[in-house]
Amino acid sequence: MQQLNNLSARIAVYQESIKAAVDRVIASGWLVLGPEVKRFEQQFAAYLGARHCVGVANGTEAIELALKALGIDSGDRVATVANAGAYTTTALLAIGAEPHYIDVDIDTHVTTLADVRVAIEAGVKAVVVTHLYGLAIPEIAEIAALCAARNVPLIEDCAQAHGAAVGGKRVGSFGDISSFSFYPTKNLGALGDGGAVVTNKDELADKVLALRQYGWASKYTVKVAGGRNSRLDEMQAAILSEFLPGLDEANGRRREIAAYYSSQIKHAGIALPKEGAFNYVAHLYVVRTAHRDALREHLRTLNIASDVHYPIPDYRQPVFGERFSGVQLANTDRLAQEILTLPCYPEMTDAEVSGVVAAVNGWRA
Ligand SMILES: *Cc1c(COP(=O)(O)O)cnc(C)c1O
Repeated sequence: MQQLNNLSARIAVYQESIKAAVDRVIASGWLVLGPEVKRFEQQFAAYLGARHCVGVANGTEAIELALKALGIDSGDRVATVANAGAYTTTALLAIGAEPHYIDVDIDTHVTTLADVRVAIEAGVKAVVVTHLYGLAIPEIAEIAALCAARNVPLIEDCAQAHGAAVGGKRVGSFGDISSFSFYPTKNLGALGDGGAVVTNKDELADKVLALRQYGWASKYTVKVAGGRNSRLDEMQAAILSEFLPGLDEANGRRREIAAYYSSQIKHAGIALPKEGAFNYVAHLYVVRTAHRDALREHLRTLNIASDVHYPIPDYRQPVFGERFSGVQLANTDRLAQEILTLPCYPEMTDAEVSGVVAAVNGWRA
């Protein structure tokens, strides 16, 4: 069986250093928000070229706390794409804010400068952009400049793009504040849940530090409104510190696999991602075809896993009923019908990668 992802393979590679990290934490007796968290925060901020990293419980709460730090409140409209798994929507709803859905480019699957401009004209209070599938949004520098000029805060969701860069600058350092997830399958993944908020602004970092722990200014003194419990634990931080030095190499292998797919998959009914032209850390390798379910079934008969990231645009999620029935985004709707994710992870062997290519090329559409 060719899996979509293989976490056991990664754990096997790092077995010794994971054990050492876990032993270190157990021996210290400090389990939550201690020296390992601080060390990882400093290392990850340095890796990104950002001033501050604040560890939190997961990537969705990282978005929520980033929004809160910016002062986004109940009733505020915030621009977001609708093709990125509803995580930003979840964070917006958690604070009572209103998602303002914007479309994506049909080829890159990410936000464009033009669509952000239209959203700002429509009066959104903030903009969340998502570096989807590992692609650094090609126009991120221009989007950041536009948001700064219009005084509209920009949040980058980097949960799928650890290490991706544009012009030598890593994503997560363009906007006012950014969010990361360390869910196990991400490019930098813990062995459990984890997340981080990253920013160059001291006052935003201070706010998130308080928000992640009940709004405390100091122990048992609640000063910042909207606080919650969203902490990163020592075990996960220690393990992330073991994985971080290998991130660039792992991203390099992901890119190699993606490049191989893009040069070897040759099928009239399948469109390949255009990411090769941009900076892409290949979190997911996503193809398009008008007969997506048939391709998926063909792969399944050959024991090759695939998945759809993501099948339902946020505004069509059943939980909303008629709430967004007026929203129709042509590219987002079309992509949801046509996309299919192929296996792409650093521990795949060359033979496994070739096996996927042969299976895809052998499909009779
Ligand atoms: C995984 C993911 C998140 C959420 O992260 P969790 O840690 O699972 O809460 C947010 N945004 C994107 C784009 C993601 O892929």
